[in-house]
Amino acid sequence: KQPVLELQNVSVSYDSPAGMVHAVNDVSLKIYENTIVGLIGESGSGKSTLGNAIMRLLKNNAVLTSGTIKVMGKDVYSMHKNDLRKFRWSQMSMVFQSAMNALNPVLTVEEQILDVFLSHDKSMSKMEAKKRALELMDIVSIDPKHLKSYPHELSGGMRQRVVIAIAIALDPKLVIMDEPTTALDVVVQRSILDKIKEIQRVKKYAILFISHDFSLVSELSSKVAIMYAGRFIEVTDSKSLEQPERHHPYTQGLLKAIPQLTAEDVTIEGIAGNPPNLVDLPSGCAYHPRCPAAYDLCKKVRPEIRYVDGRAIECHLYDTVQSEV
Ligand code: ATP
Ligand code: SF4
Ligand code: MG
Repeated sequence: KQPVLELQNVSVSYDSPAGMVHAVNDVSLKIYENTIVGLIGESGSGKSTLGNAIMRLLKNNAVLTSGTIKVMGKDVYSMHKNDLRKFRWSQMSMVFQSAMNALNPVLTVEEQILDVFLSHDKSMSKMEAKKRALELMDIVSIDPKHLKSYPHELSGGMRQRVVIAIAIALDPKLVIMDEPTTALDVVVQRSILDKIKEIQRVKKYAILFISHDFSLVSELSSKVAIMYAGRFIEVTDSKSLEQPERHHPYTQGLLKAIPQLTAEDVTIEGIAGNPPNLVDLPSGCAYHPRCPAAYDLCKKVRPEIRYVDGRAIECHLYDTVQSEV
């Protein structure tokens, strides 16, 4: 079966006054229809850069330095600009980080939604577009009267629902969601997540869900990619996260940092040390300066990807190289 998204050895760097910032380093991943894959990592690990790269909406100072990105079998970077314009939003879309604050303040919700329909389908009548906008409001559970509202008249949660509605307006196959609930309070966050799950079930989207909240991601997604210094240091099914000891030392660190609500005395251990400098990455395993299990080899040699029990893992502690599954 064809994956909806296929990343092959993708690397992205930013040109900066301090040198090249290696934000995404050699990542590979496949996402099939009707699945949610979580992408998790500390701030600055390269999550949004990867999302933007998939959409081919990288900043001007960023370059895809290696690899291929295919969506529905099509190489996003060899597409003609005009084809890309049609492809974006209709086949792949993204809820950008902080997008709810980026809605156009001078247009009503309806005007912004109609714009998506009418700019992609020149033959669509305004009547039809209005009908579709109403349906979308229903899908994301916003009272249709808010079609006439301006963004500032809506709560944060409602604005985020509008952003999600815009992302799914053309029924794309792939939806990238970059921290879609982070700025919201817990109750609103919950209701948006339930909505995302519901929409996903009905539409069978492939979703790449970016977050730094491990408990949220493991609940929502079937598979999780864990990013450190721009690399996927582990890609694992969410279920196996119930046994932290089987995972990459960094994954274990993140899991320990989740507050255990059931535990009687709550001890939250953050990961000691600082995220690496992406201009001048540490030698060997980029995690070695912070890794409690690091040993000589880790400083010298970067661990190759290994396939262990169906997980992809980059760590010297796992030296059984098995075939890819
Ligand atoms: P967060 O969780 O904070 O959203 P992130 O994982 O999404 O973080 P990115 O925004 O992808 O991280 O950034 C990855 C790295 O690239 C960071 O070191 C960041 O400083 C750097 N970076 C991002 N945008 C630019 C830019 N326009 N120019 C130079 N460096 C950049
Ligand atoms: Fe830690 Fe070494 Fe594994 Fe890197 S390779 S995670 S430093 S044990
Ligand atoms: Mg980000």
